[in-house]
Amino acid sequence: MPTLNLDLPNGIKSTVQAELFINNKFVPALDGKTFATVNPSNGKEIGQVAEASAKDVDVAVKAAREAFDTVWGENTPGDARGKLLMKLADLVEEHVDELAAIESLDNGKAFSIAKGFDVAAVAANLRYYGGWADKNHGKVMEVDTKRLNYTRHEPIGVCGQIIPWNFPLLMFAWKLGPALATGNTIVLKTAEQTPLSALKMCELIVEAGFPAGVVNVVSGFGPVAGAAISQHMDIDKIAFTGSTLVGRNIMKAAASTNLKKVTLELGGKSPNIVFKDADLDQAVRWSAFGIMFNHGQCCCAGSRVYVEESIYDQFMEKMTAYCKGLQVGDPFAENTFQGPQVSQLQYDRIMEYIESGKKDANLHLGGVRKGNEGYFIEPTIFTDVPHDAKIAKEEIFGPVVVVSKFKDEKDLIRIANDSIYGLAAAVFSRDVSRALETAHKLKAGTVWVNCYNMLVPQVPFGGYKASGIGRELGEYALANYTNIKAVHVNLSIPAP
Ligand code: ADP
Repeated sequence: MPTLNLDLPNGIKSTVQAELFINNKFVPALDGKTFATVNPSNGKEIGQVAEASAKDVDVAVKAAREAFDTVWGENTPGDARGKLLMKLADLVEEHVDELAAIESLDNGKAFSIAKGFDVAAVAANLRYYGGWADKNHGKVMEVDTKRLNYTRHEPIGVCGQIIPWNFPLLMFAWKLGPALATGNTIVLKTAEQTPLSALKMCELIVEAGFPAGVVNVVSGFGPVAGAAISQHMDIDKIAFTGSTLVGRNIMKAAASTNLKKVTLELGGKSPNIVFKDADLDQAVRWSAFGIMFNHGQCCCAGSRVYVEESIYDQFMEKMTAYCKGLQVGDPFAENTFQGPQVSQLQYDRIMEYIESGKKDANLHLGGVRKGNEGYFIEPTIFTDVPHDAKIAKEEIFGPVVVVSKFKDEKDLIRIANDSIYGLAAAVFSRDVSRALETAHKLKAGTVWVNCYNMLVPQVPFGGYKASGIGRELGEYALANYTNIKAVHVNLSIPAP
């Protein structure tokens, strides 16, 4: 402490300032506390990181408030805010290898994926919202000739943002982009499992030229720093991505304090439907990608696959062979697709689900640890799963898929929609009418047709039902970060 010197496994040398980032400076926690961040590939400590308490959150909120009132918000025009976001995107691209390697080390995802997907998407998101910064206008309402009515899209103020560990950098960018484009300031808490890449981003935020206090980042634990953010009386809005359980707590905290505005992106148990007229090879590959990508640690993972009866055997044969071929292992090895689960806790939770699945269903593939260090789990497929089995209903957040066959289309839609969640779904069919009719009947915020996990900055993402409130990405996300003010101007109406 405070600087971690990282000799990354692919030869990259980097440093991370492992402190709290407040007012564009790295500072220790007020009580000097730190916690360990662990490499999930071997379970060993990477280093110690400053651990924020409620007092540190307070300091960060004061910095964010001061910046909002003096240098950001409506004090910096949209085009200038946009320029800074674009500059940050450029810096991310300049540091792609370093950022991807830190992400890979701390989170366990394959370096090639961290580089080609995560970091690339971070830059794309920041640039996309940079573009919006001077284009989010109010409207003029033509009522009659005696008055002028218009709206202003004003920034909300200080935003608390709490992110998870599955896409540490990308969730950071999803949160920063729309909030900064619309002129808000930020106190963001990273996940305790993966604090490092966001801290590297903070150096780039300074280099890009963001004024002090606009972005503040605290590392630390949910029940302490996270709870302090959700309960804070001077935070105007909170955006959370994580489990449905914690999402409920965030909403309760907001309700019982200052009724800060809340958006939530929570869990899922997404159905993926494969009709008999689908391109089978493509459907198999996308379905495997739908669940196994990021080691199953995606809130939108296609964890329930429903295959039409007449192609079920063929599908299973190909799916099994494909999943067997996925490379599980060292995130820094060239061909690795799947690294370790993020932590011992997650590994244990997934293994518990696998044990419960073995009692209720048929373990068709995997279900075991890979290797003898780190948190690696082999791609796992269950078949013959009763619809009410735990593994068919609850989010596992690991490389575990439940595959079932269906005959009757109506029954299929009922079963697919029979979940407390509604984050995502997919349909595979060459018949465009069938695919789209099915897509429209599914109760989910995203439906992929003949693909899975496609996410682009322009298209909104978020949940129906217990999967969340509000939308991230696209123009829709801007609405989460603005207050609409209506202005009534009397041109010539005499007083009553
Ligand atoms: P997971 O169980 O997958 O780790 P969580 O929902 O617990 O997912 O964590 C997502 C984020 O929420 C993390 O940054 C975590 O620290 C934070 N968090 C956990 N508990 C709370 C809480 N009670 N209040 C606020 N944030 C929390």
